[in-house]
Amino acid sequence: MSELTKGHHEVVVLGAGVSGIYQIKCLVERGVDAIVLEGDDDLGGTWNRNRYPGARFDSESYTYGYAFSRELLDEWHWHERFSGQPENLRYLNFVADKFDLRRHMVFNARVQSMAWDEDSRTWTLQLQDGSFYTARMVITSIGPLSVPTVPNYEGMAEFKGRAFHTWAWPKEPLPLDGLRVGVIGTGATGIQVIADIADKVGQLTVFQRRPNWSKPLRNGRISEEEMTSIRARYDEIFANCSASPNGFEHTPRWGFWDATPQERRALWDELYEQPGFAILGCNYAEIFFDEAANQEMSNYIADRIRARVNDPEVAEKLIPTDHGFGLQRLPLETNYFEAYNRDNVELVSLAQTPIVRFTPTGIETTDGHYELDVIVYATGFDAITGGYDRIDIRGVNGVSLRDKWKDSPSTYLGVLCHGFPNLFMVAGPQSASGSTNFPRAIETGVNWVTGLVSHLADNSHTRVEAQADAEQKWVAEVQRAHERMLFRRSKGWFTGYNSNVEGHDDGRVRYQAYFGGAPRYATAIDRAVTDGYPALDVS
Ligand code: NAP
Repeated sequence: MSELTKGHHEVVVLGAGVSGIYQIKCLVERGVDAIVLEGDDDLGGTWNRNRYPGARFDSESYTYGYAFSRELLDEWHWHERFSGQPENLRYLNFVADKFDLRRHMVFNARVQSMAWDEDSRTWTLQLQDGSFYTARMVITSIGPLSVPTVPNYEGMAEFKGRAFHTWAWPKEPLPLDGLRVGVIGTGATGIQVIADIADKVGQLTVFQRRPNWSKPLRNGRISEEEMTSIRARYDEIFANCSASPNGFEHTPRWGFWDATPQERRALWDELYEQPGFAILGCNYAEIFFDEAANQEMSNYIADRIRARVNDPEVAEKLIPTDHGFGLQRLPLETNYFEAYNRDNVELVSLAQTPIVRFTPTGIETTDGHYELDVIVYATGFDAITGGYDRIDIRGVNGVSLRDKWKDSPSTYLGVLCHGFPNLFMVAGPQSASGSTNFPRAIETGVNWVTGLVSHLADNSHTRVEAQADAEQKWVAEVQRAHERMLFRRSKGWFTGYNSNVEGHDDGRVRYQAYFGGAPRYATAIDRAVTDGYPALDVS
């Protein structure tokens, strides 16, 4: 690390992913002395790390890109409706280069602890290599899905083949032809990777604990002509996203019970053909709140799965029975269910035949041994709070954030936290980011934090802290929004469940994200500004 970038800064931003890139741009253009510390060796966050085959947006590309610069919107051409990881990473590099942001970023700078000093009103951040930075303010842009988790099966270390998490898929080309590959996990990641490699490997064995609902992504190329019309429509596109609960160009409807079963089916036939999350965003909103409505919808999708999988026994194994459609994060797929019609693909239901142990040559279940050359862990993340938990963050009087959030996070608007002055979270726990089209929520979060940083500077304030009762009120709002939804009982990262993380594996709900919808969230954070930040103590 160069001398130039070490030392004290007014603001240190943690993470150079989608959030950190925009955050540093906003700060430097306002003349704030700021740097980004990034633990990896390059920028890009999620899109730098998740290089597994099949990794791509399941948001429409043109709703995922940044909205902040007209020039950028005019210059960038998305080539696919749902763009893949290599292009997404190129895009983020393009943005960083266009706005000359790299010179504000320090790579291989993983922060392992940070502590607040009341006397100097600064944070001291210690890196893994032992060096230190100090900062008046810290902005965390550390991502909700940045800490991968792997299972803990007996014998895992003895496996002699290659084994890695999808998040750590090798950067160098990894030919899989002729190899026996095992994939553990069938979340959004597993479903993408399985569908992509099924016809490229010798033998594919899928180890599925719980099946997930899924529907076709319906990707396609974007021609020059279409891109021109998308560019002409950008203002409308982003206005539509802002008005929708999930940050997409989708408008939900009510009236499930006013429609006849035939009318409902006709709508679902139409939505099943549409790209992306239209099947969630344009559906009857009752399916998220009403058990009977959700059951009918689930039955419809179950029939769709049965129609696509040749072997009826395999089809039944692929149909979830423990949660309804749309009640966990919905993965989108391209020929996923058809993969199971191939002779070289086998589905192992861990619910029926659990893994007993790993061996040097494969995986043993209660039903037999599977010989494998490569094992892929598509086993998910310590979601939303994991990135915070792995840094030892000490606020006022040395109180630990990890301890404060042990049972469930607790924040003011998902941005600030009582007892942790001058610490701002972009897309943090209990913001709307976990439940909406991520970059739309990021821009909202970054703009809000930047506004607060400017407000403090304009008024010569050096300390800001959320009031305890304001935090409690926000937590109550988060809980209220959560409890209204049927997914409150689902076991997924939305509700903080992860069998591989101690304390997140007992089924207790952690209120990790705000599910009141993006417009309601935007109203709440806008009001805080127009009211003059009444819930913040500033000095
Ligand atoms: P995930 O949804 O948490 O899925 C993890 C999978 O691994 C589940 O099937 C889980 O089974 C299984 N699993 C975990 N531990 C296991 C164990 N010990 N033994 C056997 N199976 C185990 O994680 P993910 O698929 O990585 O997706 C996480 C999120 O990343 C997504 O929901 C999405 O928001 C994001 N993502 C986005 C995109 C995109 O935008 N295109 C693509 C991929 C991912 P259980 O269900 O039984 O726990």
